[in-house]
Amino acid sequence: MLYGLFSDNHSNLPALEAVMAYFESNRVDSYICCGDIVGYGPNPNECIEIMKSRHNFVAVAGNHDLAAYGGKDITWFEKDAREAIIWTTGQLKPENTEYLKRLENKKIIDTFTIVHGSPRDPIDEYLVYTEELTENIEYFDTSICFAGHTHVPSIFSVARNNRKKADRKPEIKDFRTITGNTGKIELLPERKYIINLGSAGQPRDRDPRACCVLYDSITSSLRYSRIEYDIPAVQSAMRQNNLPESLIDRLSKGL
Ligand code: ZN
Repeated sequence: MLYGLFSDNHSNLPALEAVMAYFESNRVDSYICCGDIVGYGPNPNECIEIMKSRHNFVAVAGNHDLAAYGGKDITWFEKDAREAIIWTTGQLKPENTEYLKRLENKKIIDTFTIVHGSPRDPIDEYLVYTEELTENIEYFDTSICFAGHTHVPSIFSVARNNRKKADRKPEIKDFRTITGNTGKIELLPERKYIINLGSAGQPRDRDPRACCVLYDSITSSLRYSRIEYDIPAVQSAMRQNNLPESLIDRLSKGL
């Protein structure tokens, strides 16, 4: 099976359309989103409707998705993020709010697990440092866990035979951030992986292009791709809706 995966689209319709067109040109069998479908951007309904229109689209919930329907306290979000969430809540059609409410926090599909934040705390935990990544490797049973939330693409892995606490040898860890388009990355059967999909709709690794991944479960390999999309179009739609200027500005910088 060939999967098209992305995360953190954040109501960015031009980015989502560009990523979906790329997946379709690669004839993926299924689409996967690791949450934060909404928040920040100007097209929450249109983005949800693209996902709902495909029977082979699976998503899990992100912190912004919960916040958009009152499933999470928004006090702790930064001011501009909070403003965008309140705007999103007012925009969502009832049936699309229902779609967000039905999203699960964690799902197992084929050979992999999907979450937004981390396998230990699927909604809120950010996996940035090796210490948290190492702890989280115990919290899922498949060989791969795909996540998002940080908006920075990365691959973390440990050797499987070093995972048992009773027999702990020095762990062979590997943690790398991913830049730009990659070639084929082979995943090794003797290792266990946490793979961050970066962000389709608001990358924060200084590359403003939408980030997405093709994963082939038969050959156990993947490839990251960065996709150009119409950034000025989404920025002008955000301006028309009076969304915060800092959120508009960051899209062209990839911050
Ligand atoms: Zn996000």
